[in-house]
Amino acid sequence: MAKTADQPRERITSFTPYEMKKGEDYMSAEMLEHFKGLLMQWKQELMEEVDRTMHHMQEDAANYADPSDRATQEEEFSLELRTRDRERKLIKKIDQTIDRIDKDDYGFCDQCGVEIGIRRLEARPTATLCIDCKTLAEIRERQTGI
Ligand SMILES: [Zn+2]
Repeated sequence: MAKTADQPRERITSFTPYEMKKGEDYMSAEMLEHFKGLLMQWKQELMEEVDRTMHHMQEDAANYADPSDRATQEEEFSLELRTRDRERKLIKKIDQTIDRIDKDDYGFCDQCGVEIGIRRLEARPTATLCIDCKTLAEIRERQTGI
């Protein structure tokens, strides 16, 4: 059985970084369009991934006579189901982000309101926090989590 990726694509595989024009405002209409394009491309890639996982599972749904083979298969299937679940959540988040772009509410930190930054958004187009707030949130999560 071929091993599939355990993690959904966290970022877009290839894109052209946005070049800000002189005097261009942060999150200009053109810039928003750029990010919308990125998000739609990412979503497309994820959906293809979900398709592949589905096919993969259907093809592999053979009946193993050996119970230990069956157990291995079940384990692998549940792993793939988790991956698909993550992919679905990510797609949902991408949809929500596209929605925010359409409402012209994109690119600024939800927490403190500063610009998240083009390069950070290109690496993670669904980011809603600036790097400082994100870091802080992660520290808090580590402290309160577990
Ligand atoms: Zn912030």
